[in-house]
Amino acid sequence: MGKAIRLSGLIILLATLLAPAGLAAQETRRHSMLVLDQSDRRDAFYYQVFAGLRDAVSAHGHAPTTVYTESLDLNRFGGETYQDGFRRFLEEKYRDRPIGVVVAVGAAALELAIRWRPQLWPNTPIVFALVEEADFRRMRPPPDVTGSILSLKFKDAVTAARAVVPKLNTVVVVGADWEQQVLFHNWKDQVAAGIPGLDIVEIVGRPMPDVIEQLAALPDHSAIIYTGLYSDGKGNYYPPSDALAAVAAKAHRPIVVAAETLLEPGGIGGFVIVPSLIGADAAQRALRILDGEAPESLPPSVIDAVKPIFNWRQMRRWNVSEANLPQGSEIRFREPSFLERYRWRAIALGTALLVQTLLIGFLLHERLMRRKAEVDASNQQSQLAHINRQATAGELSSSIAHELNQPLGSILTNAESAELILSSPAPDLQEVREIISDIKRDDLRASEVIRRMRSLLKRAPFEKKEIDLNQTMREAFDFLKLQASARNVAIYLQTSPQTLWVKGDPVQLQQVILNLAVNSMDAMAKMPYGRTIIGRTEVNGAASAVISICDSGPGIPQERLNEIFDPFFTTKEQGMGIGLSIARTIVLAHSGQIWAENQSGGGAAFHLSLPLAA
Ligand code: ADP
Repeated sequence: MGKAIRLSGLIILLATLLAPAGLAAQETRRHSMLVLDQSDRRDAFYYQVFAGLRDAVSAHGHAPTTVYTESLDLNRFGGETYQDGFRRFLEEKYRDRPIGVVVAVGAAALELAIRWRPQLWPNTPIVFALVEEADFRRMRPPPDVTGSILSLKFKDAVTAARAVVPKLNTVVVVGADWEQQVLFHNWKDQVAAGIPGLDIVEIVGRPMPDVIEQLAALPDHSAIIYTGLYSDGKGNYYPPSDALAAVAAKAHRPIVVAAETLLEPGGIGGFVIVPSLIGADAAQRALRILDGEAPESLPPSVIDAVKPIFNWRQMRRWNVSEANLPQGSEIRFREPSFLERYRWRAIALGTALLVQTLLIGFLLHERLMRRKAEVDASNQQSQLAHINRQATAGELSSSIAHELNQPLGSILTNAESAELILSSPAPDLQEVREIISDIKRDDLRASEVIRRMRSLLKRAPFEKKEIDLNQTMREAFDFLKLQASARNVAIYLQTSPQTLWVKGDPVQLQQVILNLAVNSMDAMAKMPYGRTIIGRTEVNGAASAVISICDSGPGIPQERLNEIFDPFFTTKEQGMGIGLSIARTIVLAHSGQIWAENQSGGGAAFHLSLPLAA
């Protein structure tokens, strides 16, 4: 038993020796802090100080820390009686709440904290924040009081004013009475000392209506430096940010400010205090003390919590270029440009447009190429058609020669007769006149033959005009007449009693008719007798006209009825196989149709239907 006691005593001793050095101090400090604000914590600026502090405490994490806050509200309240009453209030309120560290926010709060400490929080370290350099020097706090010192220079505000008004010659300092200003009261001397080459107008400690009236009439090259207004002088108090909003609405010059929280209500910016940094620094010092560090080991130091920050909206209003701002300036409230705001939509739209443009380009190119191919094809077709016509004309040449010979022969005979009559002693002039008129008629016949031949052979571009299909058919059959009789074929033409107006190229359509008729003659060449071709034109309903060429030949084998229209399909020894394919191309170009069939009584029938002209 006695052995066991000795052993446990040894363990306790060892544990004590191995424990961290600061443990003893930590045990004596309560993890609690009292934040004493000199102002009203609900004001945006002090709220941000507190937010910075609270965030740092939350981030600390390893020991729960109780944070109490009290606002002294010294912008609005003051005097010995008030202060004494507040002290007693604190004494009562925190009687049973031990405080590990007091955090004083602002020089005035620090002053009171130091004064009240012996009575309220004996031996409790104090951490201060938001204490201006000059105040710190004046107060010379004891060594167990630590914190961050703020350096606020009036000349920095002037530098900012020069950045926003390039030819600055006047600054107007606007604020509450210097004595009432808890943060900027040290600027009183700096303002009084003046800045070379600059007029400084003070509108300090004036009632709000006066301030607004004076600000409405400022010279061009001037800027306002706003430190803070808290009351209208008639017992009405307001947060300095609200007062700034009222001033900014009336002032027609840019307003340089010295606190981050004054940017949004209308300040153009400047070297501004960032309150959350100050709160965070105070929290870190306080937590280290609560964790056991001696306040003396954390000496006061100047904090880097004043940053050049500007308000983009006000910069636009006063036409301030970003390039004029002090180096390292941050710009707040920048509104994204149209492109930045709609970046993805713009990219999507741009891509869609690009794709569309490429597609259109591609399609246009395709169309161009197709057109070219069509033109090439059509050139080749018209060349082929021309060759085909030449071939047809060749086939018809013997009959054409015959057709020409007839009128020429009778012209000769008539001319010889006329000669004879004229050489007689008493020529019968009346007879001569008749002979001459016969000669003229024959001559016209001959030239008509030549005209038809030429029109068939001419290589004209495809040209549609309104024509009468009956007429076209008649001319083509006239052409065929002699050839038919030479080949012992009887040809008949039955035209529709009604004029068949279609839009077409008469030469090309004649070529189709000739091709079909010559094919029929070829097909019947081996027949000993009964070679017949019947041509017919008729209306089909109200919309189309149909031409038919029927023969009494052997017909077309059923399986070849479609094949025969293919290019180069031929069953003839000397055939080219292009006649029907050209015929089909021509008919299709007239928006028509061509087909072949075998007649029930024998022989082939070719039909082509063409739309009637409206
Ligand atoms: P080609 O006359 O040079 O042969 P076509 O394209 O004009 O070329 O005719 C193609 C083929 O169609 C002919 O070789 C023939 O076999 C057939 N054909 C055309 N017309 C008739 C017809 N009226 N009767 C019988 N077969 C025909």
